[in-house]
Amino acid sequence: MELPICSICRKREAVTYQLHTHLALCKECFVNDIIKRVENEIKKYRLINQNEKVLLAISGGKDSYTLLDVMSKIHDPSKLVALTLIEGIEGYNRDDVLDSIRIKTRSLGIDHIVLTLKEVVGASVDDFVRGIKYRGINISPCTYCGIARRRAINIKARELGVDKVATAHVLDDEAQTYVMNLLRGDMTRLVQAHPRGPQLSKLFVRKVKPLRKVYERETAIYAYLHGYKFQERECPYIIHRPTLRARIRDFLYRLELERPGSLLKLVEALDETLDNYVLNYHKLPELPRCRICGEPTSYDRDLCKFCELLISAGLI
Ligand code: SF4
Ligand code: ZN
Repeated sequence: MELPICSICRKREAVTYQLHTHLALCKECFVNDIIKRVENEIKKYRLINQNEKVLLAISGGKDSYTLLDVMSKIHDPSKLVALTLIEGIEGYNRDDVLDSIRIKTRSLGIDHIVLTLKEVVGASVDDFVRGIKYRGINISPCTYCGIARRRAINIKARELGVDKVATAHVLDDEAQTYVMNLLRGDMTRLVQAHPRGPQLSKLFVRKVKPLRKVYERETAIYAYLHGYKFQERECPYIIHRPTLRARIRDFLYRLELERPGSLLKLVEALDETLDNYVLNYHKLPELPRCRICGEPTSYDRDLCKFCELLISAGLI
């Protein structure tokens, strides 16, 4: 069977079909399109300046592989450093993925740091789960995992003195976050998802999401076309994932299948709607500090969520 010709270069054979644009693309044009879209997003919202040092939060999956590869092409690799955190979940330590990431970072000339959550914040996800089980408390391991990872990345970013932290959140994540915060009526979180969201504490290193206009399915194709071997191993705690996000994800996934391009339109429309509105939140005062750890906490609290979780699990 003859393969279709790439809709862009009209020379090479197409290897993939871009659902949201109805274009058949060859490898080169597909990769160039992803790079262009990431560059456009960075430029549009001034996410990263040329001279800035950036910490890349890399889990080892397809999204973070794409982040690593694209960033190495558009930013000076000597100004990039990759960080992988091991959550400390039995049977989910991703040794195989780590090897692939090590090979990749080495070939790109990017420093790669691997640390456990326990090393950085004092308790692994399994430590937390043991603690709450012992006390008969029902809190999702994912709640601790997410908060502890964010805390650890921020602490490391401050220690390394980087200007920005780039995470591998993709368009699908962004659409879910926007919809979730809209449904909750949580305006502060809603504006924080915007690329110009407010920086509410000097202790937070600015987070950016260069892949926020790239579909998750596209990162899978990107990684595959580059021969990246990764095994998307399932975390044993996946069944404890918060249900609202999981339901929104399923709903948006079905919507996208029926109407390709819906998620992109949704995120673009909300970005634009919030463009000026976010400025109101820039006037908010600096967040107060937690009385135990000294890290930022919400306006009406004297304990941060992280310390609260450690207390619930009997870890402090
Ligand atoms: Fe962490 Fe939950 Fe993801 Fe497991 S499923 S890695 S506990 S967020
Ligand atoms: Zn605290």
